[in-house]
Amino acid sequence: MSFRDNIRQVVPYVPGEQPKQADVIKLNTNENPYPPSPKVGEALRALDPADFRKYPDPAAGGLVHAIAERYGLRDSEVFVGVGSDDVLAMCFQTFFCSEKPVLFPDITYSFYDVWADLFRIPYERIPLDGSFRIVPEDYEKPNGGVIFPNPNAPTGVLLSLEEVERIVASNPDSVVIVDEAYIDFGGESALPLIRRYQNLVVVQTFSKSRSMAGVRIGFAMADEELIRALENVKYSFNSYTISRPALAVGTASIKDEAYFRDCCRRICATRDETARAMRAMGFSMTDSASNFLFVSYPGIPGGDLFAYLRSKRIYVRWWDKPVIRDYLRITVGTDDEMKTLLAALGEYLKNRGAV
Ligand code: PMP
Repeated sequence: MSFRDNIRQVVPYVPGEQPKQADVIKLNTNENPYPPSPKVGEALRALDPADFRKYPDPAAGGLVHAIAERYGLRDSEVFVGVGSDDVLAMCFQTFFCSEKPVLFPDITYSFYDVWADLFRIPYERIPLDGSFRIVPEDYEKPNGGVIFPNPNAPTGVLLSLEEVERIVASNPDSVVIVDEAYIDFGGESALPLIRRYQNLVVVQTFSKSRSMAGVRIGFAMADEELIRALENVKYSFNSYTISRPALAVGTASIKDEAYFRDCCRRICATRDETARAMRAMGFSMTDSASNFLFVSYPGIPGGDLFAYLRSKRIYVRWWDKPVIRDYLRITVGTDDEMKTLLAALGEYLKNRGAV
């Protein structure tokens, strides 16, 4: 017997690379290419470092209130965490305590099975259909909970509100979590359903549409009974999750609605333009309702395209996994970044004799 026998061994989630060099076009972690609202800078400059000696508000009250106001909710229907990863991990611990398996798609955010393993939650992966769509009827079987992103990641494929409602309504004895990390780029949120379905949790983030991946703020919206349960787990783990600077800048960001809308609109326009250009070059792709494209080129291995783009200092995401091995996930950057990407891809296809 050695102390090593008592060490927990886990296979961790692997986040996208954060290169040190500045001269990289970084399209690999779905960050927003634009800075956050100017109000965020103002809020940051108004901070007094003398206040940092005191703990922040454990309830993150100001930020919770600002989010509740923005989404037409009561404060008791909102929970905030350190990015939606933190919120989702809390949700797994709080809501998935059954012996029955939690259901999620087989191609989806690759953190779900990591949390399930970490918290020893049984799970079952439900296959997507041949066009990478989630099939709502497949979630009508005994389960200990359901979670899926809408739009899904890394496919970008969106379920309609009716389809989401079908999954929620057909699982009244389980908590259903809709991970809406990318919903602001053209999807319809399931938020209006939370007053009708007490088993629904909608999770969103400041990391994508609000340009604040580096600040780490995510939030859940649900019936207050579920929010209370989440808070009790959080307070059993770490009371002070949101720092004073994060509280200040998060609150400033959520109040700048005009900036947020304009930023999302620009990204959607660049996405649609890039998708048109890539289809014209012969790429296949899903219809993405997110801030990334999920693309492949007939006859060219995804790993080759990935390596070539990397050699040109354009970083995208590629998974050496069955079914999606020939696909790249490309974050929508600025118009200029997309022009550089398209030029590099055009050159590659020409050299390869594909056009
Ligand atoms: N859900 C999905 C589907 C994601 O792609 C991501 C980003 N990696 C997250 C949640 C977590 O994002 P964050 O913790 O930055 O809010």
